[in-house]
Amino acid sequence: MERIEIFKGDITTLKVDAIVNAANKTLLGGAGVDGAIHRVAGKELLAECHTLNGCNTGEAKITKAYNLPCKFVIHTVGPIWYGGKNFEEDLLTSCYKKSLELAVNNNIETIAFPNISTGVYGFPKNKAAVIAISEIKKFLCNNKSIKKIIFATFDEENFKIYQHNLA
Ligand code: ADP
Repeated sequence: MERIEIFKGDITTLKVDAIVNAANKTLLGGAGVDGAIHRVAGKELLAECHTLNGCNTGEAKITKAYNLPCKFVIHTVGPIWYGGKNFEEDLLTSCYKKSLELAVNNNIETIAFPNISTGVYGFPKNKAAVIAISEIKKFLCNNKSIKKIIFATFDEENFKIYQHNLA
């Protein structure tokens, strides 16, 4: 538990080893947190993303962070919520798992996650938080190399949900 933190605010300000981007399958930028990350990182991030050939839902890819204060960006594609019968929960679990696997393989010790899929993609916020927290706790039980995982909440509703679920 002491390796988990909640932050409220803009994930692009965090000086961690890696921030996670809630990207779309093109990896070529979008709205919400994706737009914010590309705005701060600058054009070079977009250029590197162009070399990646996109990313499937539930998968993750890593890039450098350019003008961001972190060292890496891990881009993961969350599921669009279609009511829960399209493997949305499994795919969201996979986003956290695959992102953490990439982090470990790149010697990342501190990492911040946004509330993947809970913006434009419409995943119910509490359900998403329960999935995120349980996957991260499970991961930390079996991993000693990750020193800190930050849940970067942006809206008040998610902030309260994480406070409640981590209490
Ligand atoms: P998705 O398409 O995966 O739903 P969004 O970017 O629309 O992605 O939303 C994901 C979450 O990111 C939402 O909870 C939203 O409030 C949050 N968010 C938006 N901008 C930022 C930011 N700059 N830093 C951290 N979180 C953000």
